[in-house]
Amino acid sequence: MNKIMILSGAGLSAESGIRTFRDHNGLWENHNVMEVCSTQGWITNRSKVTHFYNDRRRDLEFKKPNHAHKVLTQLEHDYRGRVIHLTQNIDNLMEKAGAKDIIHLHGTLTDLRCEACTQIFNIDYAQQVGNEKCPHCGNTRIRHNVVMFGEAAPEYTRLYQSIKESTLFIAIGTSGTVIDIIPIAKEFKHSILIDPKRQNTASTFDPHNYIDEYFEHFIQKKAGDAMEDMMDIIKEHMNQ
Ligand code: NAD
Repeated sequence: MNKIMILSGAGLSAESGIRTFRDHNGLWENHNVMEVCSTQGWITNRSKVTHFYNDRRRDLEFKKPNHAHKVLTQLEHDYRGRVIHLTQNIDNLMEKAGAKDIIHLHGTLTDLRCEACTQIFNIDYAQQVGNEKCPHCGNTRIRHNVVMFGEAAPEYTRLYQSIKESTLFIAIGTSGTVIDIIPIAKEFKHSILIDPKRQNTASTFDPHNYIDEYFEHFIQKKAGDAMEDMMDIIKEHMNQ
């Protein structure tokens, strides 16, 4: 039975007004990425990192899912059990659109994590002020629930598993710089890349200059505008 694996990235939420990572000269919301998203940055200045994620959480409260989030939610519903959606996004816009089974590879903004017992707990859009206690073990060493550069991403095992299980790979709104999408696309006969811009491969030794050359279909449109073309390909694939 044919099965779809979706890997989404920051571009999926761009039309909802959440800025991407790489489209702004390596800065994310005017911050040096390595200062706010790495274990080194966390060791150097915990307060700065906490403030950064507090600001992202505050912004998220008023963001709304866009057309692409809604179509992908409907897709999950229409092909129940045959769509695996893994996202690099830490926002909850797929969930706001009604999706139930999103795998967040890089964590979630609306949760915090206990550094002692590793339990995750929800705070929705509240600010982390420093007096939080773990509801499970009572420890006060609490952090954001976002995977940083320099630490393991436990959910990646789901990514490897999905590659084995699926027949169609769809990459939406990801530059492929955090998770390299070229080796993933190589595992699939059928694949779709959705991105309004052509992205160069990282390696200068690469015989292909563009990432899209590794995909069966390249829909060079914003996510919202690409949904109709994507659905045409999906319907044909799932009926095979
Ligand atoms: P990225 O910023 O590296 O790449 C974004 C990609 O989306 C680019 O290729 C860009 O051309 C494309 N894009 C821009 N507008 C688009 C649109 N309207 N429709 C479709 N594509 C569009 O993002 P990434 O590859 O996801 O890696 C960034 C990392 O940053 C991830 O680990 C993620 O956790 C984090 N991040 C998350 C969010 C979020 O949760 N919304 C936002 C920014 C960064």
